[in-house]
Amino acid sequence: DTDLARTWVQAIAAAVDQHKDHLTQLDSAIGDADHGINMHRGFSAAAKVLAGSEPDTVGAVLVKAGTTLISSVGGASGPLYGSAFRAIGKALEVPTADSQQFAAALAAGLESVQKLGAAEPGDKTMVDAYAPAVAAFQLRVDSGGDFAAAAGAAADAAEEGMRATTPMQARKGRASYLGARSIGHQDPGATSTALIFRALAQTLEA
Ligand code: ADP
Ligand code: MG
Ligand code: MG
Repeated sequence: DTDLARTWVQAIAAAVDQHKDHLTQLDSAIGDADHGINMHRGFSAAAKVLAGSEPDTVGAVLVKAGTTLISSVGGASGPLYGSAFRAIGKALEVPTADSQQFAAALAAGLESVQKLGAAEPGDKTMVDAYAPAVAAFQLRVDSGGDFAAAAGAAADAAEEGMRATTPMQARKGRASYLGARSIGHQDPGATSTALIFRALAQTLEA
């Protein structure tokens, strides 16, 4: 429902706050050392905007979060996560969503990230954590799992996808400028995506 959607965004803001330095460290190895700062700025702003509003639908909460990310973050991750949250929100214009609806919304979010950023799995981006998380969520729902179980499976898959980015060579984003020198470093955006799914799992467990 709308309260859980808001709690999810707040949980992301808290996780990003806690892991800000780590995200920036990862980005300093293969980017421009601002991913923690970008994520922190965006999700603190989103949590703040939501604290003062009472949207009627789950989607309205998430669209608002996405719009705030786009307007408050200058880096690549702002528009990408912003469009993901806006697409997830647009698919959930209901007061409460079930796990099937949420699975479809997550897939719409992934589609919008890929439409905007043109990254495929294996390009060493957030897509490498997001795509397996969507698949794991859907699989668990289809096999009768409840919402919390599906979110837990998605978080596990996102973390596995995040770790799998280390040996990859980047083909999208700033890290791609490094060519083969991007190999051996975990992707910052895949790492923040894993935090976002873990925050979802924790929100639904509570
Ligand atoms: P910037 O690169 O503009 O400084 P951030 O540091 O906030 O932005 O985000 C970098 C992350 O964004 C990368 O680690 C990667 O996961 C993700 N990213 C960059 N370009 C793309 C893209 N085209 N598609 C998907 N994800 C991307
Ligand atoms: Mg950066
Ligand atoms: Mg930057």
